[in-house]
Amino acid sequence: MRPELSRPSMPRGSMPPLEVNGRLYRWPTRPTAVVCFDGCDPSYLAAASAAGMIPVLDRMRREGFSATALAAMPTFTNPNNISIVCGVPPAVHGVSGNFYIDRASGREVMMVDAAPMRAPTILSAFSLAGAKVAAVTAKDKLRRALGHDLAGIAFSAERADLATQAENGIADVPALAGRPAPDPYSADLSLFVLDAGVRLVETLRPDLIYLSLSDYVQHKHAPEDPEALAFMAAVDARLGQLVAAGAVVGLVADHGMTDMANPDGSPSVLYLGDAMDAAFGAGAMRVVCPITDPFVRHHGALGGFVRVHLAATDRPAEEVATFVRTLPGVAVALTREEVCARFDLPPDREGDVAVIAEKGVALGARGADHDVSQLAGRRLRSHGGLSEQSVPFVLSHPLRRGADAVVQPLRNYDIFALALNEVEA
Ligand SMILES: [Zn+2]
Repeated sequence: MRPELSRPSMPRGSMPPLEVNGRLYRWPTRPTAVVCFDGCDPSYLAAASAAGMIPVLDRMRREGFSATALAAMPTFTNPNNISIVCGVPPAVHGVSGNFYIDRASGREVMMVDAAPMRAPTILSAFSLAGAKVAAVTAKDKLRRALGHDLAGIAFSAERADLATQAENGIADVPALAGRPAPDPYSADLSLFVLDAGVRLVETLRPDLIYLSLSDYVQHKHAPEDPEALAFMAAVDARLGQLVAAGAVVGLVADHGMTDMANPDGSPSVLYLGDAMDAAFGAGAMRVVCPITDPFVRHHGALGGFVRVHLAATDRPAEEVATFVRTLPGVAVALTREEVCARFDLPPDREGDVAVIAEKGVALGARGADHDVSQLAGRRLRSHGGLSEQSVPFVLSHPLRRGADAVVQPLRNYDIFALALNEVEA
């Protein structure tokens, strides 16, 4: 059940700041829209800007605020979306991938079904304090996590036609957006999120709105491809509509995107599961690729970060990590304690050894576990490692205190803090 709304009678500007997960957030005095531009590597902005395709973003970067921020590790979609809406890293909210292996039972547990979230979201906190809040996502799975305890509007483009007042706080989304629900496997899924967001800002004037796109285009197309440039231009036009509707707009990405193909176009993959079987015996280790669900063969489920569980071996994790570091294509191999300390990750959802690939290399389990045929001749483009940690961080308006407002290193999950607390609106 969705919680009920209660509206505060005080003007927004005189409301005391809200504390969420140990951070303070001022009440917005005008609609504040945060866009998670899924997979928007800084190279997409650079290419589109050079081609003259993103005048709105160019102006935001020139007249507002622009920086490069760090995404949370691993650089996957769900941990970063949850970090952004919670304002804290995965160690606090518990979502460090799409699924994890329960260390006691050995079973796969999904992390995005809200129950394993250990922290409230900024969206929920404001909505329960009486703010008008909306969240629109591309995929419905993410909507369920982001809409957790949200007393407001939360729907996905994927299920736009199925939204109901009871479940989503809104019905007949296609009528709002002015067009039918989009194909979930299309660039249009993200554009629908933005179109609906623009209409919501224009009509409902939410205090806070979070718009989370999909990285469908970036997985398929390099920054200079005409399809990528056209997508950037289409997003840019809608950001312009949000600004024109009077919103403060903040834009970050959940992760970058890297070409992980060999010169001949075949995917550049280190099948860590096969390497572990060869070195330690078949089945001694379990390699987990938490970039996607265990039952979805999305993009071959290949990315730059995997977890190794020492299933049937008494080898110490340090020894296994030392061995993994010798494999070509591996950049970093850390024990559970090391990776959690370095990247603010929840220890109970880690494996025994975390492995991060070198730039341009994807990590897999066993070759037989991955279906790369669905790439259909395209080059593999993916994310998950350190090479995809740098992301754009852009605000439509300048910061009141200028650079003094920015605590380094800037994180993508600082976007609500800067947009609400530091913008000269
Ligand atoms: Zn993503």
